[in-house]
Amino acid sequence: MSAAVKKGRTYPALDNFRLMAALLVTAVHTSPLAPWSEAADFWLTRVLARVAVPFFLMVSGYFLQKGGWEKERTRRFLKKTGLLYLGSVLLYLPLNLYAGLPSLGEGVRKLLFEGTFYHLWYLPAAMLGCVIAWRLSRMGLRAALPAAAALYLIGLGGDSYYGIVSALPPLKAAYEAIFLVLGYTRNGLFMAPLFLLLGAASARIQIPERTAAAGFLLSLAAMSGEGFLLRHMGVQRHDSMYLLLPVCMEFLFSLLLGRNQGENKAARSVSMLVYLLHPWTIVLVRGGAKLAGLEKLFIQNQGVHFLAVAALTFAGSGMLVHLSSRALLRPAPAARAWREIDLKALAHNVRVLKEQAGPGCELMAVLKADAYGHGARETARALQRQGIVKAYAAACLTEAIQLRRAGIRGTILVLGYTPPEQAELLRRWHLTQTVVSGEYAARLSAGARKSKITVHIAVDTGMHRLGIPSGDMEAIRRVFRLPNLNIQGMFSHLCVSDSLAPDDVSFTLSQVKRFYDTVLKLQEEGLDTGKIHLQASYGLLNLPAQPCDYARVGIALYGVYSHNGPVQRGLDIWPVLSLRARVALVRKLEPGETAGYGCAFRTERSTRLAVICVGYADGLPRDFGARGGEVLLRGQRAPVVGMLCMDQMLADVTDIGDVKEGDIATVLGRDGAGLIRAEDLAEQCGTITNEFLAGLGARLDFRYKK
Ligand SMILES: *Cc1c(COP(=O)(O)O)cnc(C)c1O
Repeated sequence: MSAAVKKGRTYPALDNFRLMAALLVTAVHTSPLAPWSEAADFWLTRVLARVAVPFFLMVSGYFLQKGGWEKERTRRFLKKTGLLYLGSVLLYLPLNLYAGLPSLGEGVRKLLFEGTFYHLWYLPAAMLGCVIAWRLSRMGLRAALPAAAALYLIGLGGDSYYGIVSALPPLKAAYEAIFLVLGYTRNGLFMAPLFLLLGAASARIQIPERTAAAGFLLSLAAMSGEGFLLRHMGVQRHDSMYLLLPVCMEFLFSLLLGRNQGENKAARSVSMLVYLLHPWTIVLVRGGAKLAGLEKLFIQNQGVHFLAVAALTFAGSGMLVHLSSRALLRPAPAARAWREIDLKALAHNVRVLKEQAGPGCELMAVLKADAYGHGARETARALQRQGIVKAYAAACLTEAIQLRRAGIRGTILVLGYTPPEQAELLRRWHLTQTVVSGEYAARLSAGARKSKITVHIAVDTGMHRLGIPSGDMEAIRRVFRLPNLNIQGMFSHLCVSDSLAPDDVSFTLSQVKRFYDTVLKLQEEGLDTGKIHLQASYGLLNLPAQPCDYARVGIALYGVYSHNGPVQRGLDIWPVLSLRARVALVRKLEPGETAGYGCAFRTERSTRLAVICVGYADGLPRDFGARGGEVLLRGQRAPVVGMLCMDQMLADVTDIGDVKEGDIATVLGRDGAGLIRAEDLAEQCGTITNEFLAGLGARLDFRYKK
């Protein structure tokens, strides 16, 4: 884990490296070291800087694959890149006109393959490469990568190995035919597909950081040797492609990916603008220098020239990005009502629960219902960053796919029913499905055409919700015999483990016994039952340690108990979510006046009412006031009065000095010395914390505190 991650900050390595890559591209076009040393400049601009374009292609491939590389994503990528290309073509048209327009045939060739200005070849190459890579990826990456590598080798022959390859007359003829149509082989046909696919494959290949770092340095050194040797032999027709470049890139990309946390959208935009704009800056710097009579400093001195171009382009791009920043157009997250999510508390709870689960028992984080109202994407990402949790559970296919789309790796178990017709999607997203019954297993197996579906078998030990009845050994054995299921685990769910009443405890123990009897019997028959899991949060709180592989923790992960009832073992867990809302205004009412729908509140004294921007659409009950609901203002409790509206509620702040517009009211959580506990609030609302949190309204904003 990198230092940045340990400190709890995120380090978007991929996005940040884009800036470096953009700087390298600028160097390629300004040759900063040339006056001092031809060799050093060759190394910088023709060897090292050759990582820039492959890097951009790999990032594209990585992101295309990450959300599942569907046709739709290819289409969107083409559209976006196409528009960008169109804009760039127009942007450089004045310079084309100045230089003189090419013939029609030449123009079309440039438009399609080489770009209408020297640096623009990348955009049509990315588009053509994307189409080819996507087509190839339909065969599966294992077949696609060698095919793309073959294209790359052909390209290599027409690039830095041309002098060697063209010594063979038939090859020379073949390349001459290629060069009749294409100016270079470093293009969308020969070069781009391999790097796009390598980027796509990177999500699945994990090279340890040290290996990746060592591999990168070694392969870069070897590639430098390769470059100098080819240069020495004088065989390079062009110098964009090396045999070792893909190897070097795979290590570099793994290294960055391993350190990649979060995103830096500004870096994305700035690097793209730098890439697009730097040739214009070159023209402007040259023009400016000539006008000012400073050619010696700003043109002849290529180092200064490079610095001037880079500084101007980066500053200009940064400014453009800042001015168009969407942040200026969006309301701040703490504008109305929001949930504050304390990710430190989440990480703390993970450590406490892992300790409680004991050695050998991993945590499976239950993230259903948008992570109990905590936001599944960000919660899952925070867990993944921390690195302790490696398995997740979702309620349904949609939730599980949402997690994959958020970049979550590792096991994702779908706890609920997925229609067997959708088996293909389970496979596609590498999800694990719960077998809800014997009949279901058979249908799922039949629905899995291309390859096996990974499943965990649910065993019903008394809850009578999902699962094969624990006594029905034959039904379970039949599931093991099905051809298209890959059985990776077996679990059951306890339904009264949150109670310490003697009858409930004995019911729970009977469930535990039924589960282990079933599992052991299957194991004795030589069946591989895979990962075993039984306890949810209250299993950890109330049961002695169980021999199992996972504890499926939900509510305790979020730092609260389901209710105020007693537990065997209280844990030092910290609440993760606070609910806050702004005060819209404070008004004075005379005694005997009424307020709100149905005039449900009548003042008995001269009263100051705060109108608070949270209502029943945010997940509070309409009769919250009558239930004794309170909010914290300035650390003190203020009673909620009258009926809740959809979007607002009223609190009596007569006894709290100085409450005013814009103040922050706390509905749940801590404010100064005041605290409203989730367990108490849920009880007041006539439910348990699980329901209260899961029922928070979707429009509440999130503020994640790292
Ligand atoms: C919801 C759920 C959990 C998590 O329960 P908590 O009590 O919130 O820890 C675990 N397992 C299954 C099958 C569930 O449905």
